[in-house]
Amino acid sequence: MKEAGKLYVVATPIGNLADITFRAVETLKTVDLIAAEDTRHVKMLLQHYGISNKVIALHQHNEDKAAAEIIEKLRSGLSIALVSDAGTPLISDPGMPVVKAVHDANLTVVPIVGACALIAALSAAGVAITPFTFEGFVPRTSSARKTFFSERAEISTTWVFYESCHRILDCLHDMAAVLPVERSIVIARELTKLHETIVKLPLVEMLELVENDPNMRKGEFVVIVEGAEKIDVSDNTITPEQERILKLLLAECSVKKAVDLTVEITGGKKKPIYQAALALNEK
Ligand code: SAM
Repeated sequence: MKEAGKLYVVATPIGNLADITFRAVETLKTVDLIAAEDTRHVKMLLQHYGISNKVIALHQHNEDKAAAEIIEKLRSGLSIALVSDAGTPLISDPGMPVVKAVHDANLTVVPIVGACALIAALSAAGVAITPFTFEGFVPRTSSARKTFFSERAEISTTWVFYESCHRILDCLHDMAAVLPVERSIVIARELTKLHETIVKLPLVEMLELVENDPNMRKGEFVVIVEGAEKIDVSDNTITPEQERILKLLLAECSVKKAVDLTVEITGGKKKPIYQAALALNEK
């Protein structure tokens, strides 16, 4: 009987086409079939590396059917590479039912490692990352997002999620409505590409940056949120005098400027003044 083939889970670039391993190129060249999320997309990628190999569609809306077909092919001795449109398959991408089915069938899965946006972002963010939680894409509606963020407000470890350019600003607004405004946020956008930007700021300043700079609302985003333990929750009140000054300044300048000036004038703590500024701004 012919020996069963293996399933290779192959990572491809997340932007810069040089970010692929020799082993990944070799695997894509030598397997019998490439199962892809989007056949047209992967063909362009293959063309770039001079690979002409047979590509089949991984039926995204019927992955169980695709899994059964892949098992059959592996059993007949064919080797198959699984690829997604970008980065590591299964990471907010299709492939999980296929990989699970291959394990269930006692066949072999081989990871061919490479780019992954969340790992690239964490590696360059300068925040505590052990342990961290990956949340994939956050909910799309504002109310669901606020619930999602408030459920995570007390988590003491870092969490990471993916967001699209269409929702990044609304997402930060929702976050600022339920998380402490001094919470450290990292935005890693357009990783490995021409306009790669990695910024770490307190939430309120990140919101202002993304609101004021249209470039910060373009491209692909990884958002990293530092855990709650870094936040000083000792004193959350501000004095009537601080509130009076803050109100006057908020009428004239941005939240950040008003908070900075209030801290300078009154010598108060920044965090409660930020919180008060945000609350006053929402009224
Ligand atoms: N499988 C991919 C991986 O390994 O990272 C993720 C695929 S998921 C469908 C696409 C999302 O990943 C984008 O919306 C964005 O949030 C994030 N992403 C992908 N490429 C990125 C990049 N170059 N820079 C920042 N985020 C990126």
